[in-house]
Amino acid sequence: MVMMLLKLKMEQSKNKVATCKRCGQPIVFYPNDAGWVHKDGGVYVQKCLKCGWTGGKVGSYQKCPNCGESKRLIDDHYVQPH
Ligand SMILES: [Zn+2]
Ligand SMILES: [Zn+2]
Repeated sequence: MVMMLLKLKMEQSKNKVATCKRCGQPIVFYPNDAGWVHKDGGVYVQKCLKCGWTGGKVGSYQKCPNCGESKRLIDDHYVQPH
């Protein structure tokens, strides 16, 4: 258990952290995975034009997780590290 926690900590500290030029949110670099992504989000910040939700995940949503809209869910901007 303790070993697992230590390993997790080491992996987290390996990830570089910066800020997105477009939205000012913290972004994280995953070297072997998606590259730069928004913290708690994805490469793109997605925006729902129906309910105003913004967010994202690695791999991106096909439907708004808040209201279920799929046609008016757009990519707002690509992650832009400083
Ligand atoms: Zn951003
Ligand atoms: Zn929505």
